[in-house]
Amino acid sequence: MPGFRKAGMIVLSSPSGAGKTTLVKKISKNRNYSISISHTTRLPRPNEKNGKDYFFISKNNFKKLIKKKEFLEHAKVFDNYYGSSKKLVIDKLKKGQNIVFDIDWQGTRQIKNKNLNYKLVTIFILPPSKNELLKRLTKRENKNMKTVKKRMKEFKKDLSRWKEYDYVVINDNLQKCYKNIMKIIKRKNKIVFDKNETSKAILISAISLFLIIISDGPKTNRDEESVNYLRNYFLHFDI
Ligand code: ADP
Ligand code: 5GP
Repeated sequence: MPGFRKAGMIVLSSPSGAGKTTLVKKISKNRNYSISISHTTRLPRPNEKNGKDYFFISKNNFKKLIKKKEFLEHAKVFDNYYGSSKKLVIDKLKKGQNIVFDIDWQGTRQIKNKNLNYKLVTIFILPPSKNELLKRLTKRENKNMKTVKKRMKEFKKDLSRWKEYDYVVINDNLQKCYKNIMKIIKRKNKIVFDKNETSKAILISAISLFLIIISDGPKTNRDEESVNYLRNYFLHFDI
Protein backbone atom coordinates (compact mmCIF):
# COMPACT_ATOMS: atom_id res chain seq x y z
CA MET A 1 0.00 0.00 0.00
CA PRO A 2 1.39 3.44 -0.79
CA GLY A 3 2.03 5.70 2.18
CA PHE A 4 1.54 3.89 5.42
CA ARG A 5 2.08 0.17 6.04
CA LYS A 6 -1.09 0.20 8.11
CA ALA A 7 -3.77 2.69 7.07
CA GLY A 8 -3.23 6.15 8.52
CA MET A 9 -4.92 9.49 9.02
CA ILE A 10 -3.78 12.65 7.26
CA VAL A 11 -5.15 15.93 8.55
CA LEU A 12 -5.03 19.17 6.54
CA SER A 13 -5.94 22.47 8.18
CA SER A 14 -5.45 26.08 7.13
CA PRO A 15 -6.96 29.53 7.24
CA SER A 16 -10.13 29.40 5.14
CA GLY A 17 -9.42 29.69 1.41
CA ALA A 18 -5.80 28.51 1.47
CA GLY A 19 -6.71 25.47 -0.63
CA LYS A 20 -7.08 22.46 1.65
CA THR A 21 -10.34 21.19 0.13
CA THR A 22 -8.75 21.30 -3.33
CA LEU A 23 -5.69 19.46 -1.99
CA VAL A 24 -7.67 16.85 -0.06
CA LYS A 25 -9.64 16.03 -3.23
CA LYS A 26 -6.41 15.68 -5.19
CA ILE A 27 -4.85 13.39 -2.56
CA SER A 28 -7.97 11.20 -2.48
CA LYS A 29 -7.53 10.40 -6.19
CA ASN A 30 -4.64 8.12 -5.22
CA ARG A 31 -5.43 4.46 -4.70
CA ASN A 32 -6.14 3.66 -1.03
CA TYR A 33 -6.76 7.28 -0.04
CA SER A 34 -10.23 8.35 0.93
CA ILE A 35 -11.74 11.61 2.17
CA SER A 36 -13.54 11.79 5.48
CA ILE A 37 -16.76 13.43 4.30
CA SER A 38 -17.89 15.67 7.14
CA HIS A 39 -21.34 16.54 8.38
CA THR A 40 -22.15 20.23 8.48
CA THR A 41 -25.01 22.57 9.29
CA ARG A 42 -23.80 25.17 6.76
CA LEU A 43 -25.71 25.63 3.51
CA PRO A 44 -24.24 24.00 0.38
CA ARG A 45 -22.32 26.18 -2.10
CA PRO A 46 -23.77 26.08 -5.66
CA ASN A 47 -21.33 23.38 -6.82
CA GLU A 48 -21.51 21.23 -3.67
CA LYS A 49 -23.38 17.93 -3.52
CA ASN A 50 -24.85 16.22 -0.47
CA GLY A 51 -22.92 13.05 0.37
CA LYS A 52 -20.00 14.02 -1.86
CA ASP A 53 -18.70 17.28 -0.43
CA TYR A 54 -20.50 17.16 2.91
CA PHE A 55 -23.53 15.61 4.54
CA PHE A 56 -25.65 18.75 4.89
CA ILE A 57 -27.87 18.41 7.95
CA SER A 58 -29.92 20.63 10.26
CA LYS A 59 -28.62 21.91 13.62
CA ASN A 60 -31.16 19.68 15.37
CA ASN A 61 -29.93 16.56 13.62
CA PHE A 62 -26.34 17.57 14.28
CA LYS A 63 -27.07 17.85 18.00
CA LYS A 64 -28.72 14.42 17.93
CA LEU A 65 -25.57 12.93 16.39
CA ILE A 66 -23.44 14.57 19.10
CA LYS A 67 -25.68 13.03 21.78
CA LYS A 68 -25.39 9.62 20.15
CA LYS A 69 -21.58 10.04 20.18
CA GLU A 70 -21.43 9.49 16.42
CA PHE A 71 -18.62 11.99 15.85
CA LEU A 72 -14.93 11.26 16.04
CA GLU A 73 -14.58 15.02 16.50
CA HIS A 74 -16.80 18.02 16.01
CA ALA A 75 -16.53 21.79 16.30
CA LYS A 76 -18.28 25.08 15.70
CA VAL A 77 -16.55 27.03 12.93
CA PHE A 78 -17.78 30.37 11.50
CA ASP A 79 -21.21 29.99 13.19
CA ASN A 80 -21.82 26.48 11.83
CA TYR A 81 -21.22 23.00 13.16
CA TYR A 82 -18.90 20.52 11.48
CA GLY A 83 -18.05 16.94 12.44
CA SER A 84 -16.34 13.77 11.23
CA SER A 85 -18.33 10.54 11.43
CA LYS A 86 -16.63 7.98 13.66
CA LYS A 87 -18.19 5.03 11.82
CA LEU A 88 -17.30 6.23 8.30
CA VAL A 89 -13.69 6.87 9.30
CA ILE A 90 -13.07 3.73 11.34
CA ASP A 91 -14.75 1.43 8.78
CA LYS A 92 -12.50 2.77 6.02
CA LEU A 93 -9.36 2.60 8.15
CA LYS A 94 -10.16 -1.02 8.96
CA LYS A 95 -10.40 -1.71 5.24
CA GLY A 96 -6.90 -0.29 4.78
CA GLN A 97 -7.94 3.10 3.38
CA ASN A 98 -5.79 6.09 4.39
CA ILE A 99 -8.20 8.80 5.50
CA VAL A 100 -7.67 12.44 4.57
CA PHE A 101 -9.38 15.04 6.77
CA ASP A 102 -10.13 18.67 5.91
CA ILE A 103 -10.87 19.93 9.41
CA ASP A 104 -10.01 22.87 11.64
CA TRP A 105 -7.57 23.06 14.59
CA GLN A 106 -10.23 22.17 17.17
CA GLY A 107 -11.04 18.90 15.42
CA THR A 108 -7.35 18.16 14.89
CA ARG A 109 -6.75 18.54 18.63
CA GLN A 110 -9.61 16.16 19.42
CA ILE A 111 -8.29 13.50 17.03
CA LYS A 112 -4.76 13.86 18.44
CA ASN A 113 -6.07 13.46 21.98
CA LYS A 114 -7.94 10.28 21.06
CA ASN A 115 -4.63 8.49 20.45
CA LEU A 116 -6.23 6.07 18.01
CA ASN A 117 -4.23 3.06 17.01
CA TYR A 118 -3.55 4.53 13.55
CA LYS A 119 -0.72 6.71 12.36
CA LEU A 120 -1.55 10.38 12.23
CA VAL A 121 0.18 13.16 10.31
CA THR A 122 -1.03 16.73 10.63
CA ILE A 123 -0.24 19.32 7.95
CA PHE A 124 -0.93 23.06 8.06
CA ILE A 125 -1.43 24.77 4.69
CA LEU A 126 -0.44 28.41 4.28
CA PRO A 127 -1.50 30.78 1.51
CA PRO A 128 1.37 32.56 -0.27
CA SER A 129 0.03 35.91 1.00
CA LYS A 130 -3.00 37.52 2.59
CA ASN A 131 -3.86 39.23 -0.71
CA GLU A 132 -3.85 35.96 -2.59
CA LEU A 133 -6.06 34.46 0.11
CA LEU A 134 -8.52 37.32 -0.32
CA LYS A 135 -8.54 36.70 -4.09
CA ARG A 136 -9.16 32.97 -3.66
CA LEU A 137 -11.94 33.48 -1.13
CA THR A 138 -13.64 36.18 -3.24
CA LYS A 139 -13.60 33.88 -6.26
CA ARG A 140 -14.85 30.84 -4.35
CA GLU A 141 -17.57 32.72 -2.49
CA ASN A 142 -18.78 34.30 -5.73
CA LYS A 143 -18.08 37.80 -4.42
CA ASN A 144 -20.31 37.23 -1.35
CA MET A 145 -18.26 39.78 0.59
CA LYS A 146 -20.06 39.19 3.90
CA THR A 147 -18.77 35.60 3.99
CA VAL A 148 -15.37 36.64 2.64
CA LYS A 149 -15.00 39.31 5.34
CA LYS A 150 -16.02 36.92 8.12
CA ARG A 151 -13.39 34.41 7.02
CA MET A 152 -10.67 37.02 6.45
CA LYS A 153 -11.36 38.37 9.95
CA GLU A 154 -10.37 34.99 11.39
CA PHE A 155 -7.25 34.69 9.22
CA LYS A 156 -4.71 35.80 11.82
CA LYS A 157 -6.20 33.68 14.59
CA ASP A 158 -6.38 30.65 12.29
CA LEU A 159 -2.81 31.21 11.12
CA SER A 160 -1.52 31.15 14.69
CA ARG A 161 -2.50 27.46 14.96
CA TRP A 162 0.34 26.34 12.67
CA LYS A 163 2.46 25.52 15.72
CA GLU A 164 0.20 22.61 16.64
CA TYR A 165 0.88 20.77 13.36
CA ASP A 166 3.63 18.35 12.35
CA TYR A 167 4.30 20.05 9.00
CA VAL A 168 3.66 23.39 7.36
CA VAL A 169 3.41 23.74 3.57
CA ILE A 170 2.76 26.85 1.45
CA ASN A 171 0.14 26.44 -1.27
CA ASP A 172 1.46 28.76 -3.93
CA ASN A 173 1.64 26.50 -6.96
CA LEU A 174 -1.04 23.83 -6.47
CA GLN A 175 0.85 20.98 -8.13
CA LYS A 176 4.04 21.71 -6.22
CA CYS A 177 2.19 21.90 -2.93
CA TYR A 178 0.40 18.62 -3.67
CA LYS A 179 3.68 16.90 -4.49
CA ASN A 180 5.25 18.13 -1.25
CA ILE A 181 2.31 16.85 0.75
CA MET A 182 2.56 13.44 -0.92
CA LYS A 183 6.25 13.41 -0.09
CA ILE A 184 5.45 14.05 3.56
CA ILE A 185 2.76 11.41 3.57
CA LYS A 186 4.99 8.86 1.96
CA ARG A 187 7.59 9.62 4.58
CA LYS A 188 10.35 10.49 2.16
CA ASN A 189 11.06 13.42 4.44
CA LYS A 190 12.26 11.98 7.69
CA ILE A 191 12.08 15.21 9.66
CA VAL A 192 10.50 14.86 13.07
CA PHE A 193 8.92 17.83 14.76
CA ASP A 194 9.95 17.92 18.43
CA LYS A 195 6.81 18.79 20.38
CA ASN A 196 8.77 19.61 23.56
CA GLU A 197 10.78 22.46 22.13
CA THR A 198 10.27 26.06 23.20
CA SER A 199 8.23 28.20 20.82
CA LYS A 200 11.38 29.91 19.54
CA ALA A 201 12.91 26.56 18.72
CA ILE A 202 9.63 25.49 17.17
CA LEU A 203 9.76 28.51 14.90
CA ILE A 204 13.28 27.58 13.85
CA SER A 205 12.21 23.98 13.27
CA ALA A 206 9.32 25.16 11.19
CA ILE A 207 11.59 27.39 9.16
CA SER A 208 13.94 24.47 8.53
CA LEU A 209 10.97 22.35 7.67
CA PHE A 210 9.74 24.97 5.24
CA LEU A 211 13.11 25.00 3.61
CA ILE A 212 13.03 21.29 3.16
CA ILE A 213 9.55 21.43 1.75
CA ILE A 214 10.26 24.41 -0.49
CA SER A 215 13.56 23.07 -1.73
CA ASP A 216 12.09 19.66 -2.57
CA GLY A 217 14.31 17.69 -0.23
CA PRO A 218 16.76 18.03 2.64
CA LYS A 219 19.72 20.25 1.87
CA THR A 220 22.87 20.81 3.83
CA ASN A 221 23.37 24.39 2.58
CA ARG A 222 20.31 26.33 3.59
CA ASP A 223 19.11 29.12 1.40
CA GLU A 224 19.37 32.38 3.39
CA GLU A 225 16.76 34.07 1.25
CA SER A 226 14.16 31.42 2.05
CA VAL A 227 14.93 31.62 5.76
CA ASN A 228 14.38 35.37 5.69
CA TYR A 229 11.25 35.02 3.62
CA LEU A 230 9.71 32.62 6.10
CA ARG A 231 10.84 34.55 9.14
CA ASN A 232 9.28 37.66 7.62
CA TYR A 233 6.10 35.73 6.84
CA PHE A 234 5.54 35.13 10.52
CA LEU A 235 6.84 38.51 11.70
CA HIS A 236 4.52 40.18 9.20
CA PHE A 237 1.52 38.57 10.90
CA ASP A 238 3.02 39.01 14.35
CA ILE A 239 2.94 35.28 15.05
P1 ADP B 1 -10.09 25.83 1.72
O1 ADP B 1 -10.68 24.46 1.65
O2 ADP B 1 -8.77 25.87 2.39
O3 ADP B 1 -11.04 26.83 2.31
P2 ADP B 1 -10.34 25.75 -1.20
O4 ADP B 1 -9.70 24.45 -1.54
O5 ADP B 1 -11.83 25.83 -1.25
O6 ADP B 1 -9.81 26.31 0.22
O7 ADP B 1 -9.69 26.84 -2.17
C1 ADP B 1 -10.16 28.20 -2.20
C2 ADP B 1 -10.14 28.69 -3.66
O8 ADP B 1 -8.77 28.80 -4.09
C3 ADP B 1 -10.82 27.73 -4.63
O9 ADP B 1 -11.51 28.51 -5.60
C4 ADP B 1 -9.65 26.96 -5.28
O10 ADP B 1 -9.96 26.54 -6.58
C5 ADP B 1 -8.54 28.01 -5.26
N1 ADP B 1 -7.16 27.47 -5.13
C6 ADP B 1 -6.74 26.45 -4.35
N2 ADP B 1 -5.41 26.28 -4.47
C7 ADP B 1 -4.97 27.22 -5.33
C8 ADP B 1 -3.68 27.57 -5.88
N3 ADP B 1 -2.57 26.91 -5.54
N4 ADP B 1 -3.61 28.60 -6.73
C9 ADP B 1 -4.75 29.30 -7.08
N5 ADP B 1 -6.00 29.01 -6.62
C10 ADP B 1 -6.10 27.99 -5.75
P1 5GP C 1 -16.01 25.31 4.76
O1 5GP C 1 -17.29 25.94 5.23
O2 5GP C 1 -15.12 26.31 4.05
O3 5GP C 1 -16.24 24.08 3.95
O4 5GP C 1 -15.21 24.87 6.06
C1 5GP C 1 -14.97 25.80 7.10
C2 5GP C 1 -13.98 25.23 8.08
O5 5GP C 1 -14.53 24.08 8.72
C3 5GP C 1 -12.66 24.78 7.47
O6 5GP C 1 -11.61 25.19 8.33
C4 5GP C 1 -12.75 23.28 7.46
O7 5GP C 1 -11.50 22.65 7.56
C5 5GP C 1 -13.56 23.05 8.73
N1 5GP C 1 -14.21 21.74 8.73
C6 5GP C 1 -14.79 21.09 7.70
N2 5GP C 1 -15.25 19.89 8.10
C7 5GP C 1 -14.92 19.77 9.41
C8 5GP C 1 -15.11 18.75 10.39
O8 5GP C 1 -15.67 17.68 10.15
N3 5GP C 1 -14.63 19.01 11.64
C9 5GP C 1 -14.00 20.17 11.97
N4 5GP C 1 -13.55 20.30 13.21
N5 5GP C 1 -13.80 21.14 11.07
C10 5GP C 1 -14.27 20.95 9.82
